[in-house]
Amino acid sequence: MSRNQTLFERAQRVIPGGVNSPVRAFRAVGGTPRFIQRGQGAYIYDADAKRYIDYIGSWGPMILGHGHPAVLEAVTKAAQEGFSFGAPTEREIELAEEILKLVPSMEQVRLVSSGTEATMSALRLARGATGRSKFIKYEGCYHGHTDSLLVKAGSGLATFGHPTSSGVTPGAAQDTLVLEYNNLAQLEEAFQRHGKELAAVIIEPIAGNMNFVRTQLAYMKRLRELCTQHGALLILDEVMTGFRVGLHSAQGHYAQLIPGFKPDISTFGKVIGGGMPLAAFGASRDIMKHLAPLGGVYQAGTLSGNPVATACGLATLREIQKPGFFETLSARTRRLVDGLAAVAADNGVPFSVDAQGGMFGFFLFPQLPQNYATVMSTDKERFNRFFHAMLDAGVYLAPALYEAGFVSAAHTDADIDATLEAARSALR
Ligand code: PMP
Repeated sequence: MSRNQTLFERAQRVIPGGVNSPVRAFRAVGGTPRFIQRGQGAYIYDADAKRYIDYIGSWGPMILGHGHPAVLEAVTKAAQEGFSFGAPTEREIELAEEILKLVPSMEQVRLVSSGTEATMSALRLARGATGRSKFIKYEGCYHGHTDSLLVKAGSGLATFGHPTSSGVTPGAAQDTLVLEYNNLAQLEEAFQRHGKELAAVIIEPIAGNMNFVRTQLAYMKRLRELCTQHGALLILDEVMTGFRVGLHSAQGHYAQLIPGFKPDISTFGKVIGGGMPLAAFGASRDIMKHLAPLGGVYQAGTLSGNPVATACGLATLREIQKPGFFETLSARTRRLVDGLAAVAADNGVPFSVDAQGGMFGFFLFPQLPQNYATVMSTDKERFNRFFHAMLDAGVYLAPALYEAGFVSAAHTDADIDATLEAARSALR
């Protein structure tokens, strides 16, 4: 028996399903999860000492690859100074300043420890600031595991959502309206019916939780207009896209295409922590003043703004601002997705790909899906076989067809070529 198998059996005795986050269990694709021993650059090594080219990068944070020297140095120094004080530190100000410099839609930011906390708090802030309860989310978007966000569509626009998890009460779901991504007619109708009751709309601008689906330009533009007209706050959940699809995140990308575009509240995570537990939400000073201790919206955290995590995030943010960083990362990601598309075409496999910055998605489907139902209709059996063939060949892709992929600055052209070679054999 492989050491991965031994560890998986041992893990299942003491940890539910053997994992601390469900997707790691390989339930969607079958097989034994790899227990990772260490990472270096673009590679991770499992318990059987097998090497993989890592396209998950801890689900987004590891944009510099594993063990980047500048980040390691910053983290080591911070750890020597102290792990946690529960008191303010200068480094929190530095990180806040660094984030705000790159995200002009926000004037203030609050640091938290996970993406779940960031979106949960953003939603509470929106409700506190507007005095309204209801909000819109989208089918296929994931914003963490807060009760009111674990909700699927009801039977129609007049009925609000149903819990997707047991343990979530109908009460927690009753103010959540779930819409289909990119469905403009449905959006218009929802605002017509409920516009004046809506505190917020929360959306992943590029939905990495349905692999890779962009909000269409016309949709984003109209969504912004409707929110403004009805006094609802637009929350862009950039936990995944933030500092990953570009230095100015997805909102910077949309602002270039839609003049004047900006969200009211933004959430970040993953890259801003560089692999440490750190996330954030921010907005204008006018909205953020509602937050405790200034205002009545309560939010707190023992480890919020943790000194080691902020050191890791700061060092990461400084690296990604170096000249040419995103140009090189984008070009390498583009080389990967174009290469995959070419290999698929050579083998007559229906295939579509998209990428922005260091984030990518591919579908075993002839054109890019625009919503969750289409994503889930793509060829699951074929994806699972492809996933395992790639894994056997030493390429670690996300173990589910609805998850995005990530390239890091440590990936070389040689890594991309090796990946394409593996894909050629797999798709054959
Ligand atoms: N929002 C988005 C867009 C995410 O992708 C995720 C996690 N993948 C979250 C929120 C939740 O973040 P966390 O897992 O850190 O709680």
